[in-house]
Amino acid sequence: MSPCSRDDINKNGFESAVRLMRCLAAANASAPPPLPITSEPFLRRFLDATRCSGSLLDIRPAVNRFALWLGEDPAAVLAANADTLDRYRADVLGLPTDVAYVADYRTRAIGNLARLLLFLQYQGLGPSLGWGGEDADICIRFHAALLAHGLTRFNANRHGLHGAHLIVWARLHGIKPTELGESAIARFATHQCHCGLVNTSRRIVPNLRQMRRRAAVRLLRFMDGADPILMGCGVVRADRALREPPAESVAAYRDWLVRHRGLATSTVETYMNELVEWQVVLGEDASTYTAARVRALARQRLEGRSPTMQSRFVTVIRSYLRFRAGRGDCAPTLADALISRPTYSLGTVPRSLPFETLRAVVAGCDPDSAAGIRDKAVLTLLLETGMRGIEVARLRLQDLDWKRAVITVRGKGGRASIMPLTQDSGDAILDWLARARPASDDDALFVRLRAPYVGIRPRGGVTDIVCRALARAGHVGVGGSHLFRHSLARKLLKEGAGLPAIAGVLRHQTLDTAMIYAKVDEAGLRSVARTWPGAGR
Ligand SMILES: [Zn+2]
Repeated sequence: MSPCSRDDINKNGFESAVRLMRCLAAANASAPPPLPITSEPFLRRFLDATRCSGSLLDIRPAVNRFALWLGEDPAAVLAANADTLDRYRADVLGLPTDVAYVADYRTRAIGNLARLLLFLQYQGLGPSLGWGGEDADICIRFHAALLAHGLTRFNANRHGLHGAHLIVWARLHGIKPTELGESAIARFATHQCHCGLVNTSRRIVPNLRQMRRRAAVRLLRFMDGADPILMGCGVVRADRALREPPAESVAAYRDWLVRHRGLATSTVETYMNELVEWQVVLGEDASTYTAARVRALARQRLEGRSPTMQSRFVTVIRSYLRFRAGRGDCAPTLADALISRPTYSLGTVPRSLPFETLRAVVAGCDPDSAAGIRDKAVLTLLLETGMRGIEVARLRLQDLDWKRAVITVRGKGGRASIMPLTQDSGDAILDWLARARPASDDDALFVRLRAPYVGIRPRGGVTDIVCRALARAGHVGVGGSHLFRHSLARKLLKEGAGLPAIAGVLRHQTLDTAMIYAKVDEAGLRSVARTWPGAGR
């Protein structure tokens, strides 16, 4: 076993952490080192194992002092843990627990003592708490699994380091593998680190907390034999309905929506997301549903929600009750227990910003970063073609026809239409494809820039890009991707395009939907408005 040198340790936190674990566990494993910890043979064995803690002359006084503080009691030394170190740090070294990292001999001394306690555990002298000698192997297999998932080496190293860090931290804190749960992870994420590993970062910044937490969750999942990446890490969104198998009626209802109602997948998902929120409250047995129960649920669900969300609830529950009634599960009149919330078509004025303002927002994307190049392509498409955000997210590589300079757009209800590709949006897309798009098996035009390199999320992916770009330009809370669509419509209107033309560009199914833009043409409205009787006298 090659001993760890200081250089190695600073180069790569993950590798050095694993090597340290290996060294601590394996050094002269034939027989445990001779106690007491202050004896020269013990200290030599310890230094041989770690080799990163300085010379015997450096470490001996620190260990002597620690042993003396513990009353030279061998049992107390073997039972010492992170709490003991914290007390020692405060009592003897004069560093209270809440004091952040101090770069002097005292911190080094605590780091060495933490390693000493780990050494005792790994050598089978201290309590091992169910942790075994194969910690290093677990970390290496975890690291390999992350690489196999497509994480960059940098990220896999960081995860691996904090995975090893979690194990060391748990050992020092007397936490068994089986006790590592939500509350332990929360403590780990925020702890002031004196675990004796190098490169575990000294200042607790929000980023580090998140990093530790994510690595811990993934490592634990891995140790349970599950996939380390999927579900709940923000990489793949866990489908709420999939967390538990849906009730029989819910699955059948979903099927009915797809097959018999012919709704688009996205609409079905919207319905299902709404339904799983309250279906458990009603229960599976529809014979127990009464008008009173349905209304009570409605009162609860409608409170404090926006008009749109209220309408959604009413639509979905009536649809679900009709479906159950159709199967003979409940009375057909139950769906009438709620009346639809009145909504007014064209009840609002679409939000927009001047076209030139949005052009400046697009121009504000960083031309040198992959994210900036992607964002520019997405935003240019939104602005110049008026596509919906979800349509941009759904674009496939094969939807681009460079010869004819057109793009196939799959709009609402799966209707495909061909749109001309403007010069600017074509250039921006080419730039993205040539310079920034990572290699990916996914044929989505716009993919994530971090592994896994799958298409950006159909819901929200484009919204995130839009909101970030708008915020950079100082426009916060002004709207999402539809802002670009509205602004394009407004510009066309100003340039004298008629509503049928606008409806054509925006691919509205009926002219009625485009009617809303008539309301933003203030100049046009002014010319047809009649003078208020009595005004201007
Ligand atoms: Zn730590």
